[in-house]
Amino acid sequence: MTFRTRFAPSPTGPLHLGHAYSALLAHDAARRHGGAFLLRIEDLDQSRVRAEWEELIYQDLEWLGITWDEESIKQSERKDAYLSVLSGVSPAIPTFTCTCNRRDIQLAIGAPHAEDMAFGPDGLIYPGTCRAHHYDPHLGDLDTLNLRLSLNKIAHDINSITHSEYSDISFSNHIQSSMTLAEFPDRIGEVVLWRKGYAAYHLASVIDDAHQGITHVIRGQDLREATHIHILLQTLLGFPTPAYHHHDLIRDENGKRLAKRHDVKAIRKYREDGATPADVRRMVGL
Ligand code: GLU
Repeated sequence: MTFRTRFAPSPTGPLHLGHAYSALLAHDAARRHGGAFLLRIEDLDQSRVRAEWEELIYQDLEWLGITWDEESIKQSERKDAYLSVLSGVSPAIPTFTCTCNRRDIQLAIGAPHAEDMAFGPDGLIYPGTCRAHHYDPHLGDLDTLNLRLSLNKIAHDINSITHSEYSDISFSNHIQSSMTLAEFPDRIGEVVLWRKGYAAYHLASVIDDAHQGITHVIRGQDLREATHIHILLQTLLGFPTPAYHHHDLIRDENGKRLAKRHDVKAIRKYREDGATPADVRRMVGL
């Protein structure tokens, strides 16, 4: 069996125990299956990435004993690959141009209370204000435009988005997870694929997983809903769909999800305090 998996951190802060868990799970699975473990730096959000965080990723992974099998790739260097998917004569992914900011979206939704608002993987479900603005690659300059996925224009022969969700890391048990296209508007919405000169996460992630030949994606439960978008994009682009495993999230003592700002749980901090990689493995239950 070919087994190629990856760890795809964003250099927007120090890696914490949750990242270590994700990276170790994927790395160990690749080694167990005689496959490849790859590294991808997801540094598209130029307002938040810093070179020092990227450097720290390499140091933390090396300290944890994680090695990657091919040269790592950086999304900031792959703009042409993302661009070519959207700018073809007849792009496989239908999109519309969107000029809404967050406030416009809130106003259009018009819900006075947060509990009345519908949230998808990217936050508020887009209310469709710009839906009629079909994107024409001949007319628009992608350095100044935002593009959203046009659900209305997806061919109706794509009815159901299904993938195998492996229930444990041995990849021996799996359940099917599926969503119909009809459920997309309420659960996912018309997500942003391109933001003023930069591919957005969903588009870049799908293109890069295909580019790196990823057969197994191992990542946190927080991305489970996003996987439906990824499979829809893979279907539109004719890319293979990998197997997915969404692992539990590592939480702090109050049950709260770890975030990059919780510097106290940073791998660097454990390193500096004299912990060993084996201690970190124990802390995350490996
Ligand atoms: N860059 C994403 C993150 O750090 C990971 C996305 C993925 O694994 O697909 O949360």
